[in-house]
Amino acid sequence: MRNRFVIGNWKLNGSLSFNAGLLKSLVSGVAVSAGKSCGVCVPAPYLAQAEAMLSGSAVGWGSQDVSRFDTGAYTGDVSASMVADFGSRYAIIGHSERRATFGDTDAMVADKFGQVRKAGLTPILCVGESLAEREANQTDRVVSRQLKSVADRHGVESLQGAILAYEPVWAIGTGKTASPGQAEEVHAFLRGLVKEWDERVADTLPILYGGSVKKANAAELFAMPDVDGGLIGGAALVADEFLGIWNAL
Ligand code: PEP
Repeated sequence: MRNRFVIGNWKLNGSLSFNAGLLKSLVSGVAVSAGKSCGVCVPAPYLAQAEAMLSGSAVGWGSQDVSRFDTGAYTGDVSASMVADFGSRYAIIGHSERRATFGDTDAMVADKFGQVRKAGLTPILCVGESLAEREANQTDRVVSRQLKSVADRHGVESLQGAILAYEPVWAIGTGKTASPGQAEEVHAFLRGLVKEWDERVADTLPILYGGSVKKANAAELFAMPDVDGGLIGGAALVADEFLGIWNAL
């Protein structure tokens, strides 16, 4: 049995007062559940608020990115150990918005993966193809390249205890969700790839789907054998939607 997750990615959204209302709803709506974990990845300035409001609850928290570096002259960066200082459990890395807008390369994502591991956080490593890549039948090539760059650098055993998220770029924030069959196809491909390296790691690796998941489509996606939950963007900002997705896990 693999652990299952619903994780919210708040992106560049929130304020102290907005977050307080949302987190309060999540604390009362999420109960401890064996084998299932709920979490929110908040903008770094709100990690202290997340820690204050979520400590002792069934909702974990974390960041949406970390620096490639430990410490030093890297203005604007937030290190994995700083994120860990606020009781965080998770750190998203390799999100397509970081790759596309901020120039995160596979090598930089591998650096960040190492930092997250070193800080004792759970990495949520995002992979996914663009629409042009899907239309050119390049999906498998793209996601395997993105995953391999981490496995080559850190070893397949570094994926033990990590979370992988398949997020087709064409489905993120577009309202276009991958069909359950399309998601399962890529999830099974990714698990098969890891299996070629290490069967035990592959069998326990949670692979989340992300891309316009809502409470209306979550159950059918989560019913797929290799879909172990979801990474949720827009719908994570609406308590009723996010809790509906959690309840579908
Ligand atoms: C995301 O940003 O990780 C995401 C999946 O966004 P959305 O759910 O809004 O498509």
